[in-house]
Amino acid sequence: MSGPDIESGTVVVDGDIISWVGPRALAPPGRDVELGDVILAPGLVNAHTHLDLTVMRGRFGGLSFFEWIRALTAARAGLSAEQLLDSARGGIREGLLAGITTYADTTPGDAPFEAMLELGVRGIAYREVFGPDPRQCEASMAGLREAVAAMRARETPLVRVGLSPHAAYSVSDELFTAVADFARSESLPIATHVAESEDESQLVSNGDGVFAVFLRGRDITVNPRGRTPVDVLERRSVLGPNALLIHCIRCDERDIVTIAKHRCGVATCPMSNRYFGHGAAPVAAMRDANVRVGAGSDSMASNDRMDVLREARLALGAGAREREVWELATLGGARALGLDHVISSLEAGKQADLAAFPRGADPGGPTRASFVAVAGRVLVEDGQLHGSP
Ligand SMILES: [Zn+2]
Repeated sequence: MSGPDIESGTVVVDGDIISWVGPRALAPPGRDVELGDVILAPGLVNAHTHLDLTVMRGRFGGLSFFEWIRALTAARAGLSAEQLLDSARGGIREGLLAGITTYADTTPGDAPFEAMLELGVRGIAYREVFGPDPRQCEASMAGLREAVAAMRARETPLVRVGLSPHAAYSVSDELFTAVADFARSESLPIATHVAESEDESQLVSNGDGVFAVFLRGRDITVNPRGRTPVDVLERRSVLGPNALLIHCIRCDERDIVTIAKHRCGVATCPMSNRYFGHGAAPVAAMRDANVRVGAGSDSMASNDRMDVLREARLALGAGAREREVWELATLGGARALGLDHVISSLEAGKQADLAAFPRGADPGGPTRASFVAVAGRVLVEDGQLHGSP
């Protein structure tokens, strides 16, 4: 990702760090691991997922977005903490086998954070917070502060904590401001779903649509809140270099200028967006405006598999060069998450997050990695999870 491809290359790993990259003939002596005829790349970055929903795959077909959220929320509430943890583990195992080493997860619970720590992958666990009623703001913040304090006590160099005010239809303006203040005071990154559906745009721009009806039904006052969902976030001081904007489908030129001005990252999730018929994010226009864009799978409740390479291919469209696809799936995601100084290129000094993909695989088929390491620790070998039964 930082230079031309190297045929018959060698990557030397020293502990958790890449110490040398170059042609095999020039490699320094050491213990050799022959990976075969593969593309050896930086580990892939999933810029948006909800790992604990992996078990929900295929459950809610044919529902509208609004009905889907309602059904999903009810189904999730029926799972125990152990079931959610198992579901998150399943998501990471699936991701590892597809070459994903970094996970940007947004979840209201602990399961993905726990699973990332346990399985040795890299990630940011953005703690989700909800509260569409301004009267709930203080209670939501109290819960968030407590949860985040407990998580931060267990942060590691691999797994970091962030904040996620869920979306404009589930978070009041007051709560957006409070979370943004908290993020700034604690230097925490922030992730939020934005400009995903027409219903969301209707709610914030006009104060009507299905979300407005639902909120009014819960005795919550609904008024127009901004020109667009991105405008709402700017008004509430959510935007900045530490902010990851998830989806960004309904973004016009002004919104893209706003996103670029505040130097936000963007996670685009093409398969999930298709699942709902939401359309596609203006990825080319955002990239032209120097917006840092990464690709995400979203949860398996709106996708059939976790495959970031496929997401990157869809995000860039039919004319994209293969090199661009790989870049979006690695360095693109790392830039969006502010991790590009640490991972996502094979360069001396970077973390040894690596994934090898057998050459000649069908580009339309599922991405399968034969070898994966995170911070120098081997997690997949010969296409199998290390230590898997
Ligand atoms: Zn999401």
